[in-house]
Amino acid sequence: MRAVVFDAFGRQPEVREVADPVPSRGGAVIQVAATGLCRSDWHGWMGHDPGIRLPHVPGHELAGVVAEVGPDVANWRPGQRVTVPFVCACGRCGACAEGAQQVCERQTQPGFTHWGSFAEYVPVENADVNLVGIRDELPFATAASLGCHFATAFRAVVTQGRVAPGEWVAVHGCGGVGLSAVMIAAAAGARVVAVDIRSRALDLARRFGAAVCIDASSLLGPVAEAVLDATGGGAHLSLDALGSPRTCAASVNSLRRHGRHVQVGLLPPAAGNPMVPMARVIALELRLLGSHGMAAHAYGPMMELVKAGSLRPDLLVTKVIGLQEAPQALVAMGSRSHNRTGLTVVEPGRRAP
Ligand SMILES: [Zn+2]
Ligand SMILES: [Zn+2]
Repeated sequence: MRAVVFDAFGRQPEVREVADPVPSRGGAVIQVAATGLCRSDWHGWMGHDPGIRLPHVPGHELAGVVAEVGPDVANWRPGQRVTVPFVCACGRCGACAEGAQQVCERQTQPGFTHWGSFAEYVPVENADVNLVGIRDELPFATAASLGCHFATAFRAVVTQGRVAPGEWVAVHGCGGVGLSAVMIAAAAGARVVAVDIRSRALDLARRFGAAVCIDASSLLGPVAEAVLDATGGGAHLSLDALGSPRTCAASVNSLRRHGRHVQVGLLPPAAGNPMVPMARVIALELRLLGSHGMAAHAYGPMMELVKAGSLRPDLLVTKVIGLQEAPQALVAMGSRSHNRTGLTVVEPGRRAP
């Protein structure tokens, strides 16, 4: 098969022929129809993820068709349209027994613990636990965005954040996860304050339902103060959807009394541990929560809202490219001039234009 491969961290990846994957006993091989480009792919390529062994194929938010299943797989067969959460669970540990597959003790992640989906085929472990069926009408490019960005935002806003109608929700960072969170919170009836340093990202946030947009690049004072002003005293729920010491602290400082902070942007150790303003956490009795993907069995309510048109993950996909263009797109994510808004999706079956 053809795949995007890198042989050293930070060195230009290339598209080349590699061996076709074979499914493990409980696993499946998916023919990749679409796979999203995510900042964690860039972190992986840069060497910020200690688990990655070289050479490596990145890619973790995918949709496609089951090509082959292992002998122990009971519920899936070739030809079915599927997506997967970026955290694939073991199905047997204590966390899995509690239904918390998103924090599985023996999780696998395509594109991190093994080769990922920037390829024509990708292996997925424990297919019966991790595959999510998608209906024929849902385009693969849209379904790909569910596995990481959209499902992650859904769990962060709805399950962990417990958003309620009429509440103020602040979203710090309007990349793929942040824009998804804006859309999900607005659909839940919340009033959303979107924060970013890119005006084009804020244009999309406004389109997705943000009531207030704050351009942090043009502020004279701290971001949190602007949020406190806009919300009449602070957000009820605030998310760090980027994952940086600065946005994490800004999110905590944006909250009103009894507010909830949800950390959803990943914080790779290379970026340092954030200084969390714990004095404010005590004084205002804030709650700090983490959110890590979403288990396959929890997709149902989100899929219903997508089917009903209340949630439009299709609007997040702003660019579709072929496998040949993927290496350049991955490398470009780290450049200072990187100004892509919305989600870029790679379609391995797409021919070069
Ligand atoms: Zn991702
Ligand atoms: Zn497990």
